[in-house]
Amino acid sequence: MKHSLKTILAFLIISHCAMAQPVSKSDAHKVSSLKVTTLSTMLANSGIGEWGYAALIEVDGKKLLFDTGSKHDTVLKNARDLGVDLSVVEDVFLSHNHGDHVGGLLTLREELKKENPNALKRVHVGKGIFLERVGKDNKIWAMKEALEKDGVEFVEHDSKAELFPGMWITGPVVRIYDERNWSGSGKIKTEDGIVEDNIPEDQSIAITTADGFVLISGCGHAGVINTMQQIRTDIYEDKFFAAIGGFHLIRASDEHIEWTAGKMKEFGLENLNGAHCTGINALYDLRRLLGLDKYHAVVGSVGDTFDLENGIDAGLIAR
Ligand SMILES: [Zn+2]
Ligand SMILES: [Zn+2]
Repeated sequence: MKHSLKTILAFLIISHCAMAQPVSKSDAHKVSSLKVTTLSTMLANSGIGEWGYAALIEVDGKKLLFDTGSKHDTVLKNARDLGVDLSVVEDVFLSHNHGDHVGGLLTLREELKKENPNALKRVHVGKGIFLERVGKDNKIWAMKEALEKDGVEFVEHDSKAELFPGMWITGPVVRIYDERNWSGSGKIKTEDGIVEDNIPEDQSIAITTADGFVLISGCGHAGVINTMQQIRTDIYEDKFFAAIGGFHLIRASDEHIEWTAGKMKEFGLENLNGAHCTGINALYDLRRLLGLDKYHAVVGSVGDTFDLENGIDAGLIAR
């Protein structure tokens, strides 16, 4: 009897989490200032380019480091080159476990804590990031152990969460559409046995603004359209003012790019900064298919910015 009551309670808790209610669009906080600065991607206006991704997100004075680049010191050096002070940033979000997104974390914490003991003291991750990757060393385990010894807290997200007013973590993204934006060769150990690694932890950030959502994505393994759809379902229905980051369309077929552009159009996307694994050709195809110009659809580069007043500033590379 005692056991079944426990089971029922556990079920109710899980059901409650699974049925996350959308929020009211009129009541939701809309941020009044927003700035996104790219700190790691392949092209660089200043600093160093690398195969990786990181960006600093600033909303109404609150700051979040989104991913940490690939090489251990790229984001640290790029931030210094750009005059961006990361020591005041206390929260970091890791979009998923891959090395090109988590590679800078240990060095950043090590260096920044010299200036502020609270720098990067909270690491937000999606549920599934700690699963065993079969035949591979999941580096995030060693990273977690070392950082926890140093007083850093890991916060695992299994549903949407408003980190700061108007800044949302999506929660696990339901793969409604078969976007299949992952390698296909990896395997993970789950409670149901060994299955294909579709990077279940891949989550993104959505900012609510009066002009629509601003989406920031790391590698887009969950699929950019699945992610946009989920934001519209789980937060509220609105257009997208901007999509920024890696969208993993680098090997996508023409048909898939056309389908993606059609959905982005349906979701009212106005600005696109396709960095990292978006792919340069994919970005140019999307620009054409979306009917956007060179000021509203750009290849992302280190040092570029997006803000609510000026939109995308692509920097010298695309000026
Ligand atoms: Zn990845
Ligand atoms: Zn990546």
